[in-house]
Amino acid sequence: MAEAASASCVFCRIVRGHIPSRKVYEDDELVVFHDIHPAAPVHLLIVPKVHVESLISATGEHEPLLGKMLLLAPRLAREQGATDGFRLIVNNGPGGGQEVFHLHFHVLGGPRPWRHMSVGR
Ligand code: AMP
Ligand code: ZN
Repeated sequence: MAEAASASCVFCRIVRGHIPSRKVYEDDELVVFHDIHPAAPVHLLIVPKVHVESLISATGEHEPLLGKMLLLAPRLAREQGATDGFRLIVNNGPGGGQEVFHLHFHVLGGPRPWRHMSVGR
């Protein structure tokens, strides 16, 4: 079962269009937009529309969705200008440095320097 979207969840609010974002991709299951505080010239967030907190709470039900998110990353990285590769980061739980508790994949790319991404940055 999908978890209920939280009214206080910033990514649920973006999914619903209640707060603005710079979207680069959307389908029935996913939305992708630019991170508001980019750590690299290309910094996208791949976000499922369903509210799943993190990979810790993901289940077998989410397996096709997770595969879709993974396969979208190289395509959108390239389309957004990361032509020579990209980095995929997924922070999970407080111990993993997660700050927004709605699952998301960070896609980072483009020329250095990049800002250091770390726990509690
Ligand atoms: P994490 O630490 O993995 O939970 O990352 C959360 C990310 O969400 C951070 O890189 C934030 O800059 C980003 N973020 C937070 N609010 C917004 C927003 N309204 N629009 C776009 N990105 C956001
Ligand atoms: Zn949410």
